Amino acid sequence: MPRPIKAVIHPANLRHNLSRMKAAAPNARVWAVVKANAYGHGIERAFDALRGADGFALLDLEEAQRVRALGWRGPILLLEGVFEPRDLELCSRLDLWHTVHCNEQIDWLAAHKTQVGHRVFLKLNSGMNRLGFTPNAFRAAWTRLNALTQVEEISLMTHFSDADGERGVAHQVAQFERATQDLAGARALCNSAATLRHAGLALAGEGQHGQLSADWVRAGIAMYGSAPDHPQGSAASWDLRPGMTLKSQLLAVQHLQPGDTVGYGSRFTADQAMSIGVVACGYADGYPRHAPTDTPVLVDGIRTRVVGRVSMDMLTVDLTPVLAQRPALPGLGTEVVLWGQASNGVVLPVDEVAHSAQTIAYELMCALALRVPVELDADL
Ligand SMILES: *Cc1c(COP(=O)(O)O)cnc(C)c1O
Repeated sequence: MPRPIKAVIHPANLRHNLSRMKAAAPNARVWAVVKANAYGHGIERAFDALRGADGFALLDLEEAQRVRALGWRGPILLLEGVFEPRDLELCSRLDLWHTVHCNEQIDWLAAHKTQVGHRVFLKLNSGMNRLGFTPNAFRAAWTRLNALTQVEEISLMTHFSDADGERGVAHQVAQFERATQDLAGARALCNSAATLRHAGLALAGEGQHGQLSADWVRAGIAMYGSAPDHPQGSAASWDLRPGMTLKSQLLAVQHLQPGDTVGYGSRFTADQAMSIGVVACGYADGYPRHAPTDTPVLVDGIRTRVVGRVSMDMLTVDLTPVLAQRPALPGLGTEVVLWGQASNGVVLPVDEVAHSAQTIAYELMCALALRVPVELDADL
């Protein structure tokens, strides 16, 4: 028998979450962001649930080819554009839309021989200072692109640094409005956090875009069931359901006396007699090693906590709350849910585990290790 650990992908939940994003931006088209192998879920596994989106957005040309291979004939957007001139040939051949964030990418387009008109998303650096033209350089970039026979359509995009937090988006929206004021083109501003929290804000500019959700939103993390603004918001408060469950089983049970310690570094000491379970899951499976004692976990669908340090292949959990609700000690093979939903329907949001480990759900889902077998929930 293989190790009992596995990840389960829930297509019905992905479909539900996509519909939540559409409801949050009813007048916009939705890019389903499937970069990083659909945030660890697997592009092929997530595809069917997400094909109700208006397009797929990603970074990697290899991933774009996989989406085309699945039979998707609609829009695909390269969020960072091309990395070298010859990537443009694939864009022409596969009809990929691509971001343009720097002058070099315009030079490459100008030199590119093609019969196919390219659709580009011109990116404004409105304050994030990663990719994009500064507000002062934006109009010149637009004018250059607009003069190219290779370019059929220019859309305007930017990305928010604080849509999930206190600073918010207003300072970047003001930059976007100023830089794009009288330029033609569809607008695309919102990620998950902005779509859920700020989609209704007014947006000024050419045409009747009206709201911040504008013409396109780019939905990533929320589609996979994580609240982008956790712990302020939660998956439950946004009505999002887990896209992924990471589950395993108990391998062993140990009985501790007061003063006994657990695991490497003896980081947990029992202060009374207690039983702990040893779970077949460790950091080599993608579970965060930094998850401290008290990180939540579900044993037989009952919420309890990690105790002691997470090791490569195992971690240890407190069985006290389980014993309080079950007639006997859980035995080997008992279900343990590290995040996601248990067989009894109880949900442990990945956000809570991430928060406890001082990281974010994005990282946990993307870090799911190759050695963990993944299956699709039969409940399509
Ligand atoms: C990843 C990404 C998104 C999606 O962000 P979420 O926070 O996961 O919704 C949107 N836009 C760009 C440019 C991205 O790189």
